[in-house]
Amino acid sequence: MRKAYIAGNWKMNLTPSEGAAYASALKKACEQAGADVKIMIAPSFVSIPAVLDAVKGSDIIVAAQNMADHKSGAYTGEVSPLMLLDLGVKTVILGHSERRQYYGETNESINKKILLALELGMDVVYCVGETLEEREAGKLEEILSAQLAVGLKDVAPQDMSRITIAYEPVWAIGTGKTATPEDADDAHCFIRKTVASLYSKDIAEKLIIQYGGSVKAGNVKALMAKENIDGALVGGASLSVEQFLPIITYNK
Ligand code: PEP
Repeated sequence: MRKAYIAGNWKMNLTPSEGAAYASALKKACEQAGADVKIMIAPSFVSIPAVLDAVKGSDIIVAAQNMADHKSGAYTGEVSPLMLLDLGVKTVILGHSERRQYYGETNESINKKILLALELGMDVVYCVGETLEEREAGKLEEILSAQLAVGLKDVAPQDMSRITIAYEPVWAIGTGKTATPEDADDAHCFIRKTVASLYSKDIAEKLIIQYGGSVKAGNVKALMAKENIDGALVGGASLSVEQFLPIITYNK
């Protein structure tokens, strides 16, 4: 049985004080609602300490949205995974399509980060997904296969329990367009099959695959009802507790 995993990616939104106020309100709201899913929020780097402080005593995971591919050194402007670990951050989102699109990240460079995060004992949410052009050109499976084979290259089978895959069709991110639950489930099913062939059926069966792309209170139930959809990575609708809470409590 895979436990539902709902995550909020704040992107470059919410200042440290806004983030702290949000996080304490979320903590309280989740307690009151009896939320029983795995919950993660990913603030910007500078908001992490305040947000960690605000969620103290709860099971809410505070993750980073990215990290450097080195432990330390002359990499101006980068944030080392060791710095994140020192704060108490054990989870990192890697390969988000905005990192690929605006900052030139590739399957190869993301693989380097994934291996480093795993080496340091961190959990990873690895984002994959196709652009509209790729989907329309019938390349969905080809793109996902490459993202999985290259992104997960040299990841040891025993480390796969620390990997979550987030399937995020690029055309559905921040656009208000959601993949239909059937389309999303098909892609998730393909991802699971691919992981089974790269690793084993058992590892694939245990793999948590989140869907991301304009998830909201109104569509989360239908998405989560699908066999292969185990959670959600939420952007826009994670920016307020009012919108995020109904997603977290979709099963209530
Ligand atoms: C995201 O950024 O991962 C995302 C899915 O964004 P949105 O929910 O706004 O489409």
